[in-house]
Amino acid sequence: MDTIVKVITTREDYDIRDSAENALTIEEVIEVLKYLPQKAKVVLCNDNGHTFAPVRRSTFVTEYVETKEEEEERIRKEEEEEKNTALVCPNCGSDNIYWSVRGHMRCMSCDAKFNKAKKVTLA
Ligand SMILES: [Zn+2]
Repeated sequence: MDTIVKVITTREDYDIRDSAENALTIEEVIEVLKYLPQKAKVVLCNDNGHTFAPVRRSTFVTEYVETKEEEEERIRKEEEEEKNTALVCPNCGSDNIYWSVRGHMRCMSCDAKFNKAKKVTLA
């Protein structure tokens, strides 16, 4: 068998930003890879070597992740927006609606059943 390069995966963080703080950059990864056998296959080594997975092109994905400050600002804006909106019956416009035990909504004013209430902005 030829040499296989194992990328050992560990479970450390629940927030991708925390892991990113301690992660190598692409540039640094390339620098590390330069000194490894260039024809070696690369596999991910999960759960202490209990399972493996091949590194494929699809293994590498870029994603924009908002900073914690951007996230807080977005949530603050969403909560502000939430305060200025109300859910009403799509049939009669009454806000006298409730969730039934079967998972749909019901209007107490016109007795309509619906899955999605209408969102209205409060003045
Ligand atoms: Zn109604």
